[in-house]
Amino acid sequence: MNNDRLSYILNQLGEEDNPYGAVSPPIYQTSIFCFDSFAEFRAATKNEVKSSIYTRGNNPTVMLAEQKIASLEGAERSKLLSSGASAISHGIMAFIKSGDHIVCVKDCYSWASNMLEKYLPRFGVTHTYVDGTDTQKIIDAIRPETKLIYLESPTSLTFTLQDLPAIAAEAKKRGIKTITDSTWATPLYCNPIKLGVDLVLHSGSKYLGGSSDIVAGVISGSTEDINLIQRQEFMQFGTVPDPFMSWLLLRGLRTLHVRLKAHYESTLKIADFLEKHPTVESVTYPMLPSHPQHDLAKKLFSGGSGLFSFRLKTNRYSDIVRFIDELKLFRRAVSWGGYESLVYANAAAYYEGDDIPADRLSLIRLHIGLENSEDLIEDLERALSK
Ligand SMILES: *Cc1c(COP(=O)(O)O)cnc(C)c1O
Repeated sequence: MNNDRLSYILNQLGEEDNPYGAVSPPIYQTSIFCFDSFAEFRAATKNEVKSSIYTRGNNPTVMLAEQKIASLEGAERSKLLSSGASAISHGIMAFIKSGDHIVCVKDCYSWASNMLEKYLPRFGVTHTYVDGTDTQKIIDAIRPETKLIYLESPTSLTFTLQDLPAIAAEAKKRGIKTITDSTWATPLYCNPIKLGVDLVLHSGSKYLGGSSDIVAGVISGSTEDINLIQRQEFMQFGTVPDPFMSWLLLRGLRTLHVRLKAHYESTLKIADFLEKHPTVESVTYPMLPSHPQHDLAKKLFSGGSGLFSFRLKTNRYSDIVRFIDELKLFRRAVSWGGYESLVYANAAAYYEGDDIPADRLSLIRLHIGLENSEDLIEDLERALSK
């Protein structure tokens, strides 16, 4: 997307009607909307997916954020939701019924796998996990009752990619819906809809908000699919985005391109530093030439965000604990996408002495924030040398 178009979307689109010339859009912090006449009231209730009647359905602040994201994404419509988890559950629930089967990429986000493993079996919905790096394996897992292929490219701990256009084309031939979690790449670095995927979702709690101060989700696709999600799941489960949260998300969107550029530049430097460090076994970042799917990454993404993982050359739990505790600038936390650098060790999912899979014990995930990259490298160097 060229810069003029991007600036237009982020700063002007949907903001034409602006009383008082306020540069920042108003927050419509209201639950209900009133109508001047019976006829207007009736017209609104006859077109519930478009009208602001009650904030569980629509709200102008929410709709402004939706309009901008849809435009960035190249989608007909977006629906903002109260969390990324609700984007996952709505996107799945909208297109399946009892007896259906889902093909899902291995190592997907934990609440997506929880949905498949713990929630959907209650309704007789089955699934198969597939190594998404091999498109043929995804095709081979398709059954007559497969209704949905669930993707996440890259996966957010192991950073494996799927060939989105190839998978989408195969699914389309068979009338199967495709949905992908694109939180890592954001709508700036990848547009799965343009690659043929039916629905794309993001956790807005990450880069879209960008300040680790909101929880939000968004799902985008055709008007038909998003309207269906709105009527069926969104209105029913009430996963309402709060107007103030939506406004914070809008504020975050305005600086997304600047933040991402900084995350990307810093991440390349730090990933390169780690890759050369004698205590590091390997670094997994799609935008590094060492990534096994780097060519595909260059095809799918016009840039990279600030999240990647690496492995330490150790099989001792205590080494991991020591390294993590030594870090000063990297805060120990889940999530990512804010201005601050974070560290998450997969070992934290286990106790020392547990039977930890060898490829998981030394797996460490970093989020590179907006701090000075030299300072972050110094912090890592000090902790690694202990
Ligand atoms: C955080 C995250 C989610 C869930 O989003 P929430 O806003 O926390 O509900 C989904 N997918 C990925 C890849 C995430 O990192």
